[in-house]
Amino acid sequence: MKPHVARKRFGQNFLASPGVVARIVEAIQPQPDDTLVEIGPGLGALTEPLLARLDHLHVVEIDRDLIARLRQRFAPARLTIHEGDALRFDFATLAPILAPTLAPTPGPGLRVVGNLPYNISTPLLFHLARYAGAVRDMHFMLQREVVARMVAPPGGADYGRLSVMLQYRFEMERLFLVPPGAFNPAPKVESAVVRMTPRPPAALTAADTVLLGEVVQAAFAQRRKMLRNALREYLDETDWAVLGIDPMRRAEALTVDDYTRIANYLSVRTVR
Ligand code: SAM
Repeated sequence: MKPHVARKRFGQNFLASPGVVARIVEAIQPQPDDTLVEIGPGLGALTEPLLARLDHLHVVEIDRDLIARLRQRFAPARLTIHEGDALRFDFATLAPILAPTLAPTPGPGLRVVGNLPYNISTPLLFHLARYAGAVRDMHFMLQREVVARMVAPPGGADYGRLSVMLQYRFEMERLFLVPPGAFNPAPKVESAVVRMTPRPPAALTAADTVLLGEVVQAAFAQRRKMLRNALREYLDETDWAVLGIDPMRRAEALTVDDYTRIANYLSVRTVR
């Protein structure tokens, strides 16, 4: 078989460092009966060591050439290949989404892993966040700057919509950095491995997560403006006073809890 030529449009940078692969697998700690899905298995750098520890593995891959190679290499009884776009894949088909009060944290549930295609990382993270109720944990390799935004605390330039929406649903942990030389071809950027673990149901206090998302989006769409202006469609001076939040601050100053309080306030406020 001819060597595979990496496709830029699919964000193909294949892991070529056995040491980094071993560290990632060690962080995941796969157990034989885990329900685990790998996004973008590529040439199998992670797939093979994961399968060595698992009874069975699901993968989602978009590149047909790579799928043909995976089919040749791994038996269907061990590896189920879902052919297509991970952005459209229904992860609930692999594990049921449970109501927040029943969600397993920790316990059974879907484990999601991947050295993700960096060109679609943000939409993919938002897509995956919808399945948090079905998930036990997720481990991803991503561009270092994206991981910085995912784990960012309030107050800095990295803190934004991605930070608030993911941190509302997950505990986030940056595990380690990975240099460009660990990949073939080497990307121009540094990478990092991140762990996301769904927060316990008691922590999910937003009455309406769609409204939460709207408010956060509106606040950060004009992040250089004062909240009074960025959220003027939602809140007036009286509202800010009731909430006890200074509207002269900017979006990056508010915590995830502040945003949740604002969304909950809006969901019950009577129209004046
Ligand atoms: N896991 C392999 C490794 O670590 O060497 C490959 C990682 S490479 C960064 C990203 C992989 O995701 C490639 O195999 C690519 O074809 C696949 N991919 C890209 N876009 C995808 C999409 N929308 N859905 C599913 N897989 C995708």
